[in-house]
Amino acid sequence: MTDKVVVITGGSRGIGRAAALAAAARGFRVVVGYASNEAAAKEVVAQIEGKNGKAIAVKCDVGSEADILALFKAADEFGTLGALVNNAGILGKSGVRVDEMSAERIQQMMAVNVTGSILCAREAVKRMSTRHGGKGGVIVNLSSVAARLGAPNTYVDYAASKGAIDSFTIGLGYEVAGEGIRVAGIRPGLIDTEIHAAGGEPDRAHRLAHLVPMKRVGSAEEIANAIVWLISDEASYVTSAILDVSGGR
Ligand code: NAP
Repeated sequence: MTDKVVVITGGSRGIGRAAALAAAARGFRVVVGYASNEAAAKEVVAQIEGKNGKAIAVKCDVGSEADILALFKAADEFGTLGALVNNAGILGKSGVRVDEMSAERIQQMMAVNVTGSILCAREAVKRMSTRHGGKGGVIVNLSSVAARLGAPNTYVDYAASKGAIDSFTIGLGYEVAGEGIRVAGIRPGLIDTEIHAAGGEPDRAHRLAHLVPMKRVGSAEEIANAIVWLISDEASYVTSAILDVSGGR
């Protein structure tokens, strides 16, 4: 158990929501970031408080540096930062080939999935690194098996953004390994959340379940279990590592 603060971007729905509930159950004070769905974020906070946990909801579009600075300011007022879960991520419309992609789509993808994650990590390192007087901590970055598979004819831009996250996880992990900070990535496979609807294919995970060696989709809770393990001291020798949680896919 811990009384440290964990910042979870996109903590209002899907994997981030499950991670928020799981982290609170382990004693973390949870900062639930959300982009626009305030009601969902407040529901997560209410669930945590209903079990005597501590949580706050903070609006933060990770595509905005000003929002990110405000998120970490709110976290500072809530307690000592011990972990960041870079979970917020977007998909573009599925089935768009690279030769049909607009610059706006690609820029938005990279701004949210890549730049947003790097800027959140910057703020977390400033607070947690022993180089800056901090007490150490953990950063978990949500990647995707798409980083390995490339997602051809589906969303190569998204896959590329997650490939960048994998490189970032490895590099940042080395950079801060001597400063008390561990950095790890998770590559989820087909997980049953609303992100597929955002890509225009609500049934995508179930439709492709037969391609998974375990022949089923995963749940947000199964990813959250890996997240809370990585931010716990049980994973104390894990850094610059990326864990596939994908049923073998
Ligand atoms: P989701 O169900 O669509 O939930 C997305 C969450 O991120 C929501 O809390 C949403 O906030 C927030 N969000 C969206 N855009 C944001 C932005 N610009 N700034 C800040 N927050 C933003 O997604 P999910 O399936 O849980 O995915 C979570 C992470 O896992 C993502 O990084 C995704 O790429 C990765 N992943 C998912 C799967 C999968 O199959 N589901 C597979 C591999 C990797 P609001 O509620 O305010 O909209």
